[in-house]
Amino acid sequence: MNTFSPNKEGFYGEFGGAFVPEMLYPNVQELQNRYREIIETDDFQKEFRELMRDYVGRPTPLFYSKNLSEEHNAQIYLKREDLNHTGAHKINNTIGQILVAKKLNKKRIIAETGAGQHGVATATACALMGMKCVIYMGAVDIERQKPNVDRMKLLGAEVVSATSGSKTLKDATNEAIRAWINNPVDTHYIIGSVVGPHPYPDMVAMFQSVISEEIKVQLLEKTRNEDPDYVIACLGGGSNAIGAFYHFIDNNKTKLIAVEAGGEGVHSGKTAATIALGKRGIIHGSKTYLIQTEDGQVVEPHSISAGLDYPGIGPVHAYLNDTQKATVVSVTDQEALVAAKELSQKDGIIPALESAHALAYLKKMTFKKEDVVVINLSGRGDKDMATYQKHFKL
Ligand SMILES: *Cc1c(COP(=O)(O)O)cnc(C)c1O
Repeated sequence: MNTFSPNKEGFYGEFGGAFVPEMLYPNVQELQNRYREIIETDDFQKEFRELMRDYVGRPTPLFYSKNLSEEHNAQIYLKREDLNHTGAHKINNTIGQILVAKKLNKKRIIAETGAGQHGVATATACALMGMKCVIYMGAVDIERQKPNVDRMKLLGAEVVSATSGSKTLKDATNEAIRAWINNPVDTHYIIGSVVGPHPYPDMVAMFQSVISEEIKVQLLEKTRNEDPDYVIACLGGGSNAIGAFYHFIDNNKTKLIAVEAGGEGVHSGKTAATIALGKRGIIHGSKTYLIQTEDGQVVEPHSISAGLDYPGIGPVHAYLNDTQKATVVSVTDQEALVAAKELSQKDGIIPALESAHALAYLKKMTFKKEDVVVINLSGRGDKDMATYQKHFKL
């Protein structure tokens, strides 16, 4: 299953690790000691793969876009993660983690959520598995993401409002961590991206790696070569990107391109372009790049897409960037909106705003006609309709 992993302490080069308060050691160490052994059993793999197929709807199609191919003079394929149950790649991870939680005899799941996408994917997996589910969400986000709050409640989850600080994702994360400290024995904390203390980044990457595993098989069938020339994915915390990159990291052919949210411009003060601006620091338990002030305060990020609106970046991406195994670039809110509209009208696919960032970068590249390019379409745009309505005056 693996071609790329951190060392025993969870470091990718200098990035990663597990910088957690002493009170969390038991929980984190239990996971560190057990996760690989659990995930690698035949039993686990059988259950995970059956659920991916019959519940999530995998394999997701790899669609050759004739329109994009003609426009950009290359062979462009879209990996349709938008067709997964619940509308994005996040469900691959929540199903995987809930199976791990079961093997650890946990009875209760907690998670943090910003826009509510990870909260919905977690509540969905909990409903399926009969686990009690508590989702922490900033009070401000509860106000602005009502449809997702209602979905979580309908799925049977309890939604707890985080009322400290800016009342958004970072505060919800702090409350979830506090809740984990208070319930170390029966509770598993499902983190939603390749962030957090070791082993989360590696564990989440293992579950999302199903994306590139499928791309290989599908490309072999369609082009007789399993390795594309380019894979392009948007980069929030980095889980869909690492999933799409995973099985191509070790080959010398495939160029990996991660697209961050430039917001209103990398130097506008309203951005989430972590690699472009970030300095080394520790956020949510791991060493990575983050956007911070001179004296080390985390800066509130901005992106039009909620899923990319995070001030840090998974440690694996900090490492891939520094070792030049991946190229990290950014596009603006405006460029993403244009790309979303174009895909909608030319291919009949309304993408998530996050995924539109990956699409938008196509315009900044030049290809050779025979280049095979895979864009990871991480999610569908239903959740972004309010933003589209506003910007396109629908
Ligand atoms: C959450 C989300 C993202 C960003 O998260 P990653 O961990 O960077 O993948 C991207 N696309 C969609 C559709 C999302 O819901």
